[in-house]
Amino acid sequence: MRTIRRITLFVLLTVLTQFGGFVYLLNGYLFKKWTLINRFFAFLMLYFMFLLFFVPLTARIVDRVPLPAHNSDFIGPANYMTIVLGRNYVKQDLYKAVIESAAVFGKKYPTAKITYLDAGFALSSWIPIIPHSGHNGGKSLDFGFIYDDAEGEVKRGSPSWSGYGVYAQEKLTNNQKKCFKENSMYGLSKYFALSTGKGEYKLNKRMTRELVQALHKQTKITKIYLEPYLKSSLGLKRFKKIKFPGCNSVRHDDHIHVQID
Ligand SMILES: [Zn+2]
Repeated sequence: MRTIRRITLFVLLTVLTQFGGFVYLLNGYLFKKWTLINRFFAFLMLYFMFLLFFVPLTARIVDRVPLPAHNSDFIGPANYMTIVLGRNYVKQDLYKAVIESAAVFGKKYPTAKITYLDAGFALSSWIPIIPHSGHNGGKSLDFGFIYDDAEGEVKRGSPSWSGYGVYAQEKLTNNQKKCFKENSMYGLSKYFALSTGKGEYKLNKRMTRELVQALHKQTKITKIYLEPYLKSSLGLKRFKKIKFPGCNSVRHDDHIHVQID
């Protein structure tokens, strides 16, 4: 029973954070004589030491840097769990492109703040960042849309806890109906929303369009994924780098996916 519990925890921590499984094993080895509760607190301490010091230092060796956690007025995570789980790492080229886009956007719209969702893990590409099939190697990153409140003022944050799973429109397009038939995972992100404040957030099309345009201008960014109906309704039809990822992916009308080559 104990072995099953240990294996489950190791796998879960590895899948969620990449380095957490290793920290769990190390903690068990270093403090094996300690009581369960003391081992738990030792794990937390060790985990945060890795998160704050060892992981960022090691990540630089494989050209990955963490996106700003709280020190930027223009950009931040939709949910701090992205930082705590170490899912906010990208390659330097993508980092620069994102920060430049955020600065351009932020100077024009200082009341808005760009929210990023999952990026990639810090250390290696051999563990996929679930549920994203195409986020390996620090070359991809997801953004939330920009929203207004009921009074039409910019509302910072995200309509769902995770930043995923609240779609730009309820009604499915014919293309989306086809995708649901072809791929049972197509609507998976809905189950990652966890809790939502849907009614409080209204999509700000103009600012979302300008955010996508700012990202599109960056030469290092080679692909941006959006659902076709959203590309049209945001007035972005002529932008060549904006593509439909296909039915094998998850829906892309709750977030913007960007990537470099
Ligand atoms: Zn993505």
